[in-house]
Amino acid sequence: MELPRYHRLQGALYRLEGSRCNACGTLHFPARAVCPGCGGTEHLPHRFKGAGTLWSFSELYQLQRGHPKDIPHLVGIIQLDEGPRVLAQITDAEPEELSIGMRLEMVTRLIRSLGEDGLRIYGYKFRPVMEKNG
Ligand SMILES: [Zn+2]
Repeated sequence: MELPRYHRLQGALYRLEGSRCNACGTLHFPARAVCPGCGGTEHLPHRFKGAGTLWSFSELYQLQRGHPKDIPHLVGIIQLDEGPRVLAQITDAEPEELSIGMRLEMVTRLIRSLGEDGLRIYGYKFRPVMEKNG
């Protein structure tokens, strides 16, 4: 990813920032300029809580540059509590631990490290919510 593009995406990558349509109130992630529901063009930033349920998932064995070589990547679609679905890597879990409908939460993790300059890109991933006692 080119640096200028990355900088524009930082809000979305770090804080799960999308948008809320001023006209109809629909929430979007990623942020949109035009609401697909009502055609509205005025949006306010909306920061999602980062909680949701697993809607679907799969294991990816195709490697991307900058990833560790021996680990299959879990990628899922997460249905956020606020509505939108987000495609994201799933971390801190083995494939057999995942089930559709389980609770997930957002964490910020290293996504890629690029080249000799050591550029490290962080962004959101999701992991299973740990059961808490009490
Ligand atoms: Zn709208």
